[in-house]
Amino acid sequence: MSEASERPPRFRRVLLKMSGEALMGDSDFGHDPSTLAQLAREVLSVHGQGIEQCMVIGGGNIIRGDQAAASGIERVTGDSMGMLATVINALAVQSRLEQAGLQTRVLSAIPMASVCEPYIRRRAIRHMEKGRVVICAGGIGSPYFTTDTAAALRAAELGCDVMLKATKVDGVYTADPKRDPLAKRFDRLTYHEVLAQDLKVMDASAISLARESAIPIIVFSVLQPGALLRVLRGDGPHTIITEETATEEAGS
Ligand code: UDP
Repeated sequence: MSEASERPPRFRRVLLKMSGEALMGDSDFGHDPSTLAQLAREVLSVHGQGIEQCMVIGGGNIIRGDQAAASGIERVTGDSMGMLATVINALAVQSRLEQAGLQTRVLSAIPMASVCEPYIRRRAIRHMEKGRVVICAGGIGSPYFTTDTAAALRAAELGCDVMLKATKVDGVYTADPKRDPLAKRFDRLTYHEVLAQDLKVMDASAISLARESAIPIIVFSVLQPGALLRVLRGDGPHTIITEETATEEAGS
């Protein structure tokens, strides 16, 4: 075992943000079974380390409010459709996690009593303390927001030490690495750099909320086996976003 793999995880309670697009894998719509299975393996490995976990799931693989609006549906109705899509995804993720042997609870910001629990902050915390993975669905329950903002809000109110943004690429790049072979991955960024350079990591309100609550954001690829545990140990390819640059930290 290498020295790096023996390093203990740096966090006690974490929030994983998984977009609908990431659940889609290489398909055009819906859920990719192998991506869901891979996600379950990652979450299980972190659970084995005694780290409390909650997740916020997006809905973009099914519908987004702005897409619905473009096809003539009222924007607010479209946003409600998008929030319902996140519940569908949360149930798919729940099913996979439970097949992997994890205990889970889906908590929705839009009450849906016969399907899942309502989102109640204290209940979410209690579930995590009991070793259950909490899957937050329904965004924040209001239109004109995104699940990125919901992730930052839940991370702050549930006392998470870090927000992990799972994507199909292993960090934040200077350009789209699929299109530009010269694109370089940032190892570290500050919240300010992300906002000032308009880097497409999460929307600005999510970044600002994370900054206000001093919650670091780690962007990584959930498709690489073992990646989640590695990034929690500070290893493997990822980008970490915090208040300070690496130079400032070294000098402090
Ligand atoms: N949404 C919303 N309020 C929220 C969260 C989400 O209205 O608090 C709607 C919005 O229309 C959004 C859609 O749900 O486009 C799906 O969420 P998102 O686009 O964040 O999903 P992701 O891109 O993460 O898959």
